[in-house]
Amino acid sequence: MSVNDPTRPSPSRTPWLTALHRWFDTTVDDEPAAAADERVDWMRVLPFAALHLSCIAVLWVGVSWTAVCAALTLYAVRMFAITGFYHRYFAHRAFRTSRAIQFIFAVVGASAVQRGPLWWAAHHRHHHKHADTGRDPHSPRRGFWWSHMGWFLSRSGFRPDLRAVSDLQRYPELCWLDRYDVAVPATLAMGLYALGAWLARVAPQLHTDGGQLLVWGFCISTVLLFHVTVTINSIAHRFGRRRYDTRDDSRNSWLLALLTFGEGWHNNHHFFPGSARQGFRWWEIDVTYYGLRALALLGIIRDLRPVPAGLRRMGRS
Ligand SMILES: [Zn+2]
Ligand SMILES: [Zn+2]
Repeated sequence: MSVNDPTRPSPSRTPWLTALHRWFDTTVDDEPAAAADERVDWMRVLPFAALHLSCIAVLWVGVSWTAVCAALTLYAVRMFAITGFYHRYFAHRAFRTSRAIQFIFAVVGASAVQRGPLWWAAHHRHHHKHADTGRDPHSPRRGFWWSHMGWFLSRSGFRPDLRAVSDLQRYPELCWLDRYDVAVPATLAMGLYALGAWLARVAPQLHTDGGQLLVWGFCISTVLLFHVTVTINSIAHRFGRRRYDTRDDSRNSWLLALLTFGEGWHNNHHFFPGSARQGFRWWEIDVTYYGLRALALLGIIRDLRPVPAGLRRMGRS
C-alpha cells in the first residue's frame, strides 16, 4: 500500500477513536502533526501494555514443562523469523528466496507482534541510513527508554516513510500483513488456547490447559522476545566492543549475540550491513546464519551474500 493510497481510511476527528481504529487497521491516517509527536500514544498501545500485564496471569495458570517448552520454541522460531527474515532478508536483502517462502516467514515474523514486515524494514533502513544522528528513529543518544521502546510507542514511530520499502510494496500479501498486523498474533493466541484446551482433554499427563499455553506460549514468550530484540537498539549502541570505526555508536556483544541469535555482532553489521552473516570470526556465534545456511542447503533460500574476506580481516581482533 503506497503512502498516497486512496483506499486508506481517513482519520477520525477524535484522536482516541483513530487510535482505537488502528488496533485493527494500521493504515488509518493521522493528522500531519502526528509525524513529529513523540509522546506515547496511550490509546493505541493499550494492547501492548495489556500483553505485558497479562504475564501476571501466570500466578493463576501455573507452570508445566509443556508450557515452558512451548514458550521457548515460540521464542526461538519467531526470533529466527525476525532476525533471518524481517532483518536480514526484508530490510537488507541479504539473500534470495521464492515469493511463497518470503510470505511464510513474513507470517511467522508477524506473529512476533513487532508490526508488519514493511513497517519493520522501513524503520530499519532509516536506522542504517541515519544511525545515531538526529534522524535515527531510535538512537540511544536520546536516552535508553526512547531507543528501547519509546520510539515504538510514540505517534511519530507509528508510520514510517514507506518510500524506503518500495521494493516490498510490490507484494500485496506483504501489504496485507502490514495493514492488519493484529491478524497473525491474534490467530496464534487463539490457536494456543485451543491447543492447550485440547491437550488437557486428550493428554492430561502433560499437565497443561488452554490458559496456561496462552500465557506461556504467547504472552510471556512474546514479551521476552520483544525486549530482547530491542536491546539491539538500546544496548548494542551503548555497551560492548567496537571492532570497526563506523560512523555510528554500534558495538559487538557476545551476550546479546547469544540471546538474539547473532544480532549482537552489531558493530560488524553496521560495518557491512548487506551480509547474511553477522558473526565475522569463526568464534562469533551467529545462530541465525547457521539456520540460513541450513535453509540454503535444503534449497529453500539461495545466494546468501557473504562478507568479503578482506573486510572480515579488517578492524581490531
Ligand atoms: Zn544499529
Ligand atoms: Zn540492519
